[in-house]
Amino acid sequence: MTRPNTPDRVNSDGSKTITTKRACNGCGDLIGDLTDSEFTAAVAGRPLPDVRRECTTCGPTAPEPTCTPMKLASGDVLCLEMECDHDGVRDNSYCEEVGEEVVCAIHSTFAPGFEDAYEVATHAEPWPCKHNKAVTP
Ligand SMILES: [Zn+2]
Ligand SMILES: [Zn+2]
Ligand SMILES: [Zn+2]
Repeated sequence: MTRPNTPDRVNSDGSKTITTKRACNGCGDLIGDLTDSEFTAAVAGRPLPDVRRECTTCGPTAPEPTCTPMKLASGDVLCLEMECDHDGVRDNSYCEEVGEEVVCAIHSTFAPGFEDAYEVATHAEPWPCKHNKAVTP
């Protein structure tokens, strides 16, 4: 998979279009365009994927991406928006219907949720992540 690297463009009206770039998490070099999933991760405060293997400097020596645990709230849309009238819902606290699980942020996949207000996990990889240990059959 090759990451596009869109150069900055100057539009006909003189304004500039700049595509946000992703920096390598190993050496800090820019490796190409920020992907949509990296953008939503940044917005959601989720750890960004490890991209050292895409980097020409770090790639040859980069280890497997490091698994990172994160908490994931699961429940109804109304509950997750704290708009429901279940017991326990109050400012900045979910109601009793909302469960919390720990998943691997690196090996789970996410998609923008209702009205892009938050993310939903399309695949939740339970923690401890099975990708975490070296697989020796
Ligand atoms: Zn690098
Ligand atoms: Zn993992
Ligand atoms: Zn609720």
